[in-house]
Amino acid sequence: MRHTRLEHRFVKHAPDLLEPGILYISMEYCTVTHSCCCGCGEEVVTPLGPTDWKLTFDGETISLWPSVGNWTLKCRSHYIIDHGRVLKAPPLTKRQIAAEQRRNGSAKASHYNPDKVPDRIEAVSDAAASLGTSSQSGALNRWSKVKEWIRKRWRR
Ligand SMILES: [Zn+2]
Repeated sequence: MRHTRLEHRFVKHAPDLLEPGILYISMEYCTVTHSCCCGCGEEVVTPLGPTDWKLTFDGETISLWPSVGNWTLKCRSHYIIDHGRVLKAPPLTKRQIAAEQRRNGSAKASHYNPDKVPDRIEAVSDAAASLGTSSQSGALNRWSKVKEWIRKRWRR
């Protein structure tokens, strides 16, 4: 591990030529970019998001979670960025890499799949169905009946 400490810069875009030892943070594009801490110079991009990396800024230093596992790079380095420090993590085994890719894929699928209806919306439409509306009358119609019902109760 050539770089054991990282400084950070808040930028709009990461520059074409990354300076090693610097984390480039773009809030606008929700990405963190840096030159691989092993010193190989490869660009590492970690997107920020509910199913991706989470960034913590304590006013002085940056932490990123989960760890950065560069298994697509030749160096296959794996480290944790914690309070601006780079902590070496044990190399990932093939099985761990496969599990991580599966986890990431399924987390993404359930987070971004618009067909997956959260349970509480289903509960609301169940409540609507029990108000005597026909089950054939679509969720949207049922939802507007619920709203109407809530509005009536509110006026009382
Ligand atoms: Zn590397």
